[in-house]
Amino acid sequence: MHAWREPSKKSVRRLGGEILQFVRSGLFQPRCRICGCDLVCDDENVICRDCREKIRPDTENRCGVCGKFIPEGMETCGSCLLAPPPYERHASYAAYEETLRKVIILYKFGEVEPLKHLLARLFHMAVASRLPGDYDAVVPVPADRRRRRGFQPLRAVGKVLARRLGIPFRPGLLVKRKSTPPQVGLTRARRLANLDGAFALGRGTRAAGLRVLLIDDVTTTGTTLRRCASVLRRAGARVTALTLAQPRF
Ligand SMILES: [Zn+2]
Ligand SMILES: [Zn+2]
Repeated sequence: MHAWREPSKKSVRRLGGEILQFVRSGLFQPRCRICGCDLVCDDENVICRDCREKIRPDTENRCGVCGKFIPEGMETCGSCLLAPPPYERHASYAAYEETLRKVIILYKFGEVEPLKHLLARLFHMAVASRLPGDYDAVVPVPADRRRRRGFQPLRAVGKVLARRLGIPFRPGLLVKRKSTPPQVGLTRARRLANLDGAFALGRGTRAAGLRVLLIDDVTTTGTTLRRCASVLRRAGARVTALTLAQPRF
């Protein structure tokens, strides 16, 4: 039988160092949630500086009313000429693609809450460059009733944006009265019927004379924004719509 020997201080130190190195380099090294690289800078949070720098506003020609991508030389798209939307203007920060698209999905579905600061900054930059003006309140497109528990991505980012703009955040101004299936993949007629009467003014609220900044994360067909804006307009508000991204089609 041999006696158990005390490990030397040196070997304990060596082992400690190895563990530390393993932790630093392996499992617990924070990585960029978009490209997977190691996060090294102090100001990097969730995604790396390189990925962040890839998120840039587009410089292409857009409809001056709804923000749709349109051919060079045109000022307003055909649909806005035919049926002007109930909001005064809509603009988005950039096209819904590449890094911005990944970040929005990561934030919304991965529930990575710290990204709200980055997204609020993008919203803010889009207001400053594309929709300058004075606003009285930030109002988010209301979430479906079924998704009203737990993390509410648009509310969280809207709150940060309102703080940055120095105006009140009024999520109670608009409510969603019924649950609706996702708009994606539905025909135009189905989309409109789907949202019929879905939105209403919040109980006991007034919107007369308010200059509302209505926000959503992404807009594709614009139906939801139009529906929300028309409720607010009927109540006497002036609505400007703002989103992070819209597809190029
Ligand atoms: Zn990255
Ligand atoms: Zn348009």
